[in-house]
Amino acid sequence: MLLSLCALLAVGAAAAQEAPPQSTLPDMGKLPAVPPATRAQVQPQYVVVLDAAHGGGDVGARFTDKLLEKDLTLGFSVRLRQALASHGIQVITTRDTDTAVSMVARGEAANHAMAAACITLHATATGSGVHLFTSSLAPTPYTKFLPWQTGQSAYATQSLRLSSEISTALGHTAVPVTLGRTSLQPMDSFACPAVAVEIAPLAGGNTTSATPLTDVGYQNRILDALTAALTQWKNDWRQQP
Ligand SMILES: [Zn+2]
Repeated sequence: MLLSLCALLAVGAAAAQEAPPQSTLPDMGKLPAVPPATRAQVQPQYVVVLDAAHGGGDVGARFTDKLLEKDLTLGFSVRLRQALASHGIQVITTRDTDTAVSMVARGEAANHAMAAACITLHATATGSGVHLFTSSLAPTPYTKFLPWQTGQSAYATQSLRLSSEISTALGHTAVPVTLGRTSLQPMDSFACPAVAVEIAPLAGGNTTSATPLTDVGYQNRILDALTAALTQWKNDWRQQP
């Protein structure tokens, strides 16, 4: 069950807005790809890609007049980058400013990095805790040529493992986790273990109000969990399922 439609609606709108018509896509429909097992051998660096969803005219969800999803995801990406860097983890981001970045450009940035993990960041006002989405593409065995838009299908198993490690880390800090599968760009294009992290407010008990998305303490719990999971993933990502 998908608790939130934020990612789907927002990205659907963004895709409609940003994605060029099929006929004008760069000639990258079938790019040579490197199988996961080989990638680890030729690319020993551990690189994490952070993809702050939305940006520019694509504001994402509008929580209040002044609180836009595009700003939340960017702020979160910046802070997570700093946290990972402090642990010696190399990070590449798809955007560092409030700019529109096409889905194709995001996919290119991630895939050129030959990343060990790609994290797309969304936020939503619905649900509670963190929603973790992996691609709903059917897993496919590695082939030499993968369609660009479905490159994620070769990484389905690894992405589920990464999602599981993030879920475990969030559980350690008592943040509720909802797992889901969805078709989502640019995630479906990522040729690396990939998870979409959608942050929701933290529902309170019967007598307490929800902790808002902007609560620094709540954000820090999520940041700490993601940092812990991506630090642990450094030890695990090369292991084949
Ligand atoms: Zn979104």
